Amino acid sequence: MSPDQKLRRDVYDDPRWKVTRLNVLTRDGFQCVLCDTTGGPFVADHSPVPLIALLRLGRDPFDPAACRTLCLPCSGSSDGPRASSA
Ligand SMILES: [Zn+2]
Repeated sequence: MSPDQKLRRDVYDDPRWKVTRLNVLTRDGFQCVLCDTTGGPFVADHSPVPLIALLRLGRDPFDPAACRTLCLPCSGSSDGPRASSA
């Protein structure tokens, strides 16, 4: 596992992430912010600033303001944390 993968796992395995994720999905009305689909499943993606970049900037990865709701196809086209949808 690379250091970046470990950083991602530490965030997405954290109980706080579940709260953040739900807050983001609720805030965005369970609608993808890129393609406007309301058909899930959705992920709360660290976007437009990817998670690893956020951590390097010293930003809080559990801040809902750092995340957007994306559907799976849209999250797959970005630097999104697909592991968070598992
Ligand atoms: Zn989408």
